[in-house]
Amino acid sequence: MSKLAGKPRFIFITGGVVSSLGKGLAASSLAALLQARGFKVRLRKLDPYLNVDPGTMNPNQHGEVFVTEDGAETDLDLGHYERFTGVDAKRSDNITAGRIYSTLLSKERKGDYLGHTVQVIPHVTDLIKEFILSETATEDFVLCEIGGTVGDIEGLPFFEAIRQIGYKMGRSKVLYMHLTLVPYIAAAKELKTKPTQHSVKELRSIGIQPDILLCRAEREIPLSERRKVALFCNLPEESVFQALDARSIYQVPLHYSEQKLDVRVLEHFGMDTPEAPDLQKWHDIVNRFEQPAGEVTVAIVGKYTGMGDAYKSLNEALDHAGIAHNVRVNQRWMDAKDFETLDMHKKFKGVDAILVPGGFGERGVLGKIAAINYARENKIPYFGICFGMQIAVLEFARNVLGIKEANSTEFGEFKGKDKRGPVIGLMTEWKKGDVSYKRSSGDDLGGTMRLGSYPCQLVPGSLVAKIYGKKSIHERHRHRYEMNIAYARELEKVGLQVSGVSPSGKLPEIVELPAHPWFVGVQFHPELKSRPFAPHPLFSSFIEAAIGQSKRKEEVL
Ligand code: GLN
Repeated sequence: MSKLAGKPRFIFITGGVVSSLGKGLAASSLAALLQARGFKVRLRKLDPYLNVDPGTMNPNQHGEVFVTEDGAETDLDLGHYERFTGVDAKRSDNITAGRIYSTLLSKERKGDYLGHTVQVIPHVTDLIKEFILSETATEDFVLCEIGGTVGDIEGLPFFEAIRQIGYKMGRSKVLYMHLTLVPYIAAAKELKTKPTQHSVKELRSIGIQPDILLCRAEREIPLSERRKVALFCNLPEESVFQALDARSIYQVPLHYSEQKLDVRVLEHFGMDTPEAPDLQKWHDIVNRFEQPAGEVTVAIVGKYTGMGDAYKSLNEALDHAGIAHNVRVNQRWMDAKDFETLDMHKKFKGVDAILVPGGFGERGVLGKIAAINYARENKIPYFGICFGMQIAVLEFARNVLGIKEANSTEFGEFKGKDKRGPVIGLMTEWKKGDVSYKRSSGDDLGGTMRLGSYPCQLVPGSLVAKIYGKKSIHERHRHRYEMNIAYARELEKVGLQVSGVSPSGKLPEIVELPAHPWFVGVQFHPELKSRPFAPHPLFSSFIEAAIGQSKRKEEVL
């Protein structure tokens, strides 16, 4: 229920000076503080790039593709939004310029513009405004983050749209928060505010006067400097906040609360600011994260190991599980291609558990198979996620069932007499509720996978049934290929149990090895649903198994 009378209040979060300042975290942290005061919040991201969605973008360049319950492929910031507020993001919470233009052009082709010249203003900006305002009637606060930095050519229609919203609704309903950088110049031993001044100047030149400035800095910004920023950027000095580098992302809401950022926001909207909200749960996770009682090391054998954000939700889910068990989870990322030749014992020295995450394409598969084989034979806890499940099935089919040519059709079609090979195959037809989906290998790549939340039934008595403590679960998917159910019987006979299936019984969703301490492969992405205050049961159990493994190792030594 909405706590506020009247329409929701909009908070627009923009960025300047450089990209990657953490607008998503800033937006999420502010939302968490407002939520802690009992308000209903909604977070949205507007991305000015021309891809229709990030689904086709390389995670090495752009970071992880975050999948929502309702099956949208979205920007990774939506993951932060969910983790900080616990509110499930929706398809309608992320829009790109590409989506806006594709909607606009198809309307134009249908003649919807009735002969008018179609222009950036008002047509593109109107569509952006429509998106921002849609489905917001029951919210108290809608926080909208604009991707990129002020001054980017492609961002202009977005800035113009949010300017118009402020103009129409008035400042009592709209707040602009601008995130900038105050760099420290070591040679001069000084923090420099000039880039911030320029960035605000740029914003004001397109008609937006920020109400709050949030300055990222690696060291404390003295009051005198904050005063200077306030004066030159035309806002009161109480509206200039510092966002210092934090040791953990979950500290950020606490930093903001100490400076009373949420109070300033409420004052802007002319609202009462009763006593500070109870943030004990945030203090608790930060303390547990910073003072763990022990540590475990998880080897993650993957491909996109160059970019820190390519597996953001996975990194977070492992941290959540570590927090739950009071251990630090060291993530040792390993490039799968290094595994084909090296001595495995040496390679995995000090490792307590092995994980193969989601991935695409054949490169590195042999290395992943070797890593999984090592985990299976040496009884090291193994967690296979999506691709990591598929490859675990291949490993087992090749090395235990003895089908040497076992493979996935993702790496090429099976022809002629190779009939025993396609253990993992392209899913051509499936159902979600009453809706049927059909696919073929020639389809567009964008948005054509099995996406979003699907139900899965757990086999009673299995490890996963115990872990979840449920008979049926819902998890989020993002993949094109599936384990071929036709092989389930044979694989089960030699020890690989299919312990989770789709309600139709046709799609294997989970496999496990009952004879192994902890060996689970899941077709879905559990990391997408893990939250700091509600760690995902599979990750939690996996880390527990890693702790067990680390104790066993100590006993042997
Ligand atoms: N490449 C595999 C598929 O499309 C796995 C995808 C994934 O790991 N997300 O089915």
